[in-house]
Amino acid sequence: MSDLATLDVSGKKVFLRCDMNVPLKNGTITDDGRIRASLPSINFLRKGGASIIIGAHLGRPKGEIKPELSLAPVAKRLSELLSCPVKFHSALEEEEVARSSQELASGEVLLLENLRFNPAETSKDDDVRANFAQVLASYADIYVGDGFGAVHRKHASVYDLPLLLPHAAGFLISAEVQILKKLTQNPERPYGVILGGAKVSDKIGVISNLLDKVNILAIGGGMVFTFLAAQGKEIGTSLVEVDSIPAVKALLERAQTLGVDLRLPTDIVIAPAFSVDAPPTLVGVDSIPRDQMGLDIGPESASNFAAAIRLCRTVFWNGPMGVFEFPNYATGTKVIAQALSEVSGIGVVGGGDSAAAVRTLGFADSDFDYISTGGGASLEYLEGKELPGLKALDI
Ligand code: AMP
Repeated sequence: MSDLATLDVSGKKVFLRCDMNVPLKNGTITDDGRIRASLPSINFLRKGGASIIIGAHLGRPKGEIKPELSLAPVAKRLSELLSCPVKFHSALEEEEVARSSQELASGEVLLLENLRFNPAETSKDDDVRANFAQVLASYADIYVGDGFGAVHRKHASVYDLPLLLPHAAGFLISAEVQILKKLTQNPERPYGVILGGAKVSDKIGVISNLLDKVNILAIGGGMVFTFLAAQGKEIGTSLVEVDSIPAVKALLERAQTLGVDLRLPTDIVIAPAFSVDAPPTLVGVDSIPRDQMGLDIGPESASNFAAAIRLCRTVFWNGPMGVFEFPNYATGTKVIAQALSEVSGIGVVGGGDSAAAVRTLGFADSDFDYISTGGGASLEYLEGKELPGLKALDI
């Protein structure tokens, strides 16, 4: 892998793959963290005299043009953050994009429209992706990969394109990998992992891989109800992935054999419906009524998890402890975020959702040792998987 800092980019056209997959509400960006995280590489390339063609994606348009997933609001925000105009190319036609990129002067920035509007970007067919990558390669002399949140995807702009051009990792990817290495190669102990969020099936692999590496594992969020169901508890109408129950049962047994300090909630904040104004009630974990759903961990569980975090010298946290978007069910997530901000070793917030959660709850990025931009990507790294976007950059 070339080091971006030593690359001579003067007068070169650089294709910069960024992760600008920001949350949007009615066309307004609600958290611009991922755009800000891309700035160091963009600023470096501009200063070095490159002309920059940024490729990125937004959401999952599944190969169709979906106006609500246009990167136009991102171009506007990026322009504000860079204090310079950012050209936005809304057309997908090769010739037009080729002309725009040829016309780019040194230091200028062009953002291409959502790459996933083209079905070739995410195609499972290697030839289809490779052909699209050839087109993208024709716009530039050098590829810089900096879209950490997408490196676990074998997509044209992430995997196939860097194979065609001289390439380097951007500063964001380098920083992300450096911190993940700290978590996977000899972490300072005790090492604790806190997992939450909605989808348990996304996290079974990572839990399985981490069980013999961590000292403490605490689980909350919507995913914990599949654990409680696997223990035979009544979970009412809470979120559950029935198909994952056997795998979760196996994890519980392995955790016990390995002697992992596995912490599950002892109290739950329940609601009659999934709604922002649903009245919250606190119950013990063995007393969830059949017609109610758990939307947050209770205060006893939150302080137990926070105590675990305080014991640790290395902590990785991914996924909110409850439906933090509803103020009545945000307390568990807030308590965990607070404890993580006070960790004496390294405390890492992993992932887009968790990062957005801590910012929504009023924490500053500087409250934590590191906030990762890639949820899925960092989980797959911790799972020990080979990530296509890192492999293509020779990392
Ligand atoms: P994930 O993308 O898997 O990290 O899930 C993040 C989402 O999980 C957030 O939008 C939360 O609102 C949601 N979530 C957390 N706890 C619960 C819960 N108890 N029930 C339903 N959804 C939840």
